[in-house]
Amino acid sequence: MYLLYVCTGMACRNQGESLREELTCAICCELFNDPVMLECMHHFCRACIQRYWDKCSRVPSCPQCRREFPNRTFRSHYLVSGVVEKLRRYSSEDHKRKMQKHLENALRAHQREMENFVRQKHTAEENICSLTKTSGELNSKIHAEFERLHQILEEKERVVLMELAKEEELLLVRLRGDIMQLEEGISDLRKNIEHIQEILNKTGDSLLLEVESWTIRPPVHAVAQPALDIQCHRERYSGPLQYIFWRQMLQSIHPAPAPLTFDPESAHPNLVLSKNLTAVTESDRRQPVCSSPKRFQQCVNVLGSQAFDSGSHYWEVWVGSKTKWDLGVAAESVDRAAKVKLCPENGYWALRLRNSTEYWAAATPWVRLAPRSCLRKVGVFLDCEEGKVAFYNAENMTHLFTFHQAAARRFCPFFSTCFSDGKLNVEPMRICHLTL
Ligand SMILES: [Zn+2]
Ligand SMILES: [Zn+2]
Repeated sequence: MYLLYVCTGMACRNQGESLREELTCAICCELFNDPVMLECMHHFCRACIQRYWDKCSRVPSCPQCRREFPNRTFRSHYLVSGVVEKLRRYSSEDHKRKMQKHLENALRAHQREMENFVRQKHTAEENICSLTKTSGELNSKIHAEFERLHQILEEKERVVLMELAKEEELLLVRLRGDIMQLEEGISDLRKNIEHIQEILNKTGDSLLLEVESWTIRPPVHAVAQPALDIQCHRERYSGPLQYIFWRQMLQSIHPAPAPLTFDPESAHPNLVLSKNLTAVTESDRRQPVCSSPKRFQQCVNVLGSQAFDSGSHYWEVWVGSKTKWDLGVAAESVDRAAKVKLCPENGYWALRLRNSTEYWAAATPWVRLAPRSCLRKVGVFLDCEEGKVAFYNAENMTHLFTFHQAAARRFCPFFSTCFSDGKLNVEPMRICHLTL
C-alpha cells in the first residue's frame, strides 16, 4: 500500500487498503483473477464462481448475497480486471524494490541538499555577524576621524577669534589713549578760553597792560595719530574665509601627502633624476654615479628619501600617461644587487602597469585591477603598525587594492620607471607635493 500511495500520490494508506478489499474475491480471498460480475453486481474470479457453482447442486446463486439466478450467467468485467492488474503490478516485489531504491536515493539527495542549505544559512548568519562587527568598527573609526576634524576646525576657529579679539583690544587701547589725550587737550583749551574771555570782559585801558601780566598758555597740540583703518581691519577677516581656513587646516591633517623626494643613492645608474629629486626617468645611457651598496644594480628602481618604521604615511605619485611602471612600498632590506621578482615574499608591495592599460597588484599570484578610469596619479598609504599598504586613484581617492600582513623593519617608498622603450615610456614619474 505504501507503494500505491507513492504511485498515485493522492490516495492515502487506508484508501489503498479499502481498494484492495474491494478488489478481493470473497471466495478465494485473493485479488481478483479474471474477474466477472454476476447479475447482482457482485464480482468473483471466473474460476472461483465456476467452481462454486460446480460444487453446488441447487440453482446457481451469489455466494455473497444469496440471490438465485435462473442460469449460470456472468459478464467479464474489463475495467475491474485492469484495475486489479495495476494493483498487482504495484504490489510486486520488483516494483517495491525499485521504488524503495528510488525513494532512498531521493532521501539521500534531499538530506545532502538540506546539509548544504544549513551550511549556507550558517555562513550567511556568520557573514551578518562579521558585517555588523566590521561596520561597527568602521563607524567608530569614521566618527573618530570626523571628531578630529571638528577638533581641528574648532581649534582653528578659537585661534582666529582670539587673534581678532586681540587686534580689537590693541586698537581699542590706542583709541582710548587718543580720547584721553584729546580730553586733556579739551580741558586745557577750555581753561584758556575762559581765561581769555575773562580778560576780554574787563573794559578800559588796563586791558593791554593786564594781558602782558596774564600768562596765557599756548594751546596744546594733540599728537597726530594715523587714522584708524577700519577697512583694513575688516579685510583681514573677510574674503574666501572657508578656503583660507581649509588651507590652514591641511597642515594639521594626518596623514597628508608627504613631501618626499627620490633617494639618489638608491637609484639604478640608468635613472636620471631631476634637480629637485622629485622626477625620474630611465635613460639608455648609464649615468656617472658613485657606487653604493644602496644602489639597485639590476632593475631600474629607486627608493624614497625617507624610510618609515612606525605610524601611517601617505604619498602621491604622478604616472601621467606612462605605459609601464611599478610603484608602492619596499622593505629597506630588499636585495638591490640581484634581479628580484616583485612580490610580497621578497619585500615588495606594489602596483604595476603593463601594456598601457593593464593594472595589476603584484600579489602572489598577480591580481588584475579594473579602475574606472586610467590612473594618472596614484596614492600610496602605508600603515606600519597594521602592516597595510593600500593604493588609491589619487585624483578621486577611490580605493584600488590593499596588501595586508606587510612586514619589514623599515619600509621605503618604492618606484620603478621601467624602461623608456625609446620615447614610448619616457615620461618621468614624479612625486607629488601637496599644492593648493
Ligand atoms: Zn476467487
Ligand atoms: Zn450477489
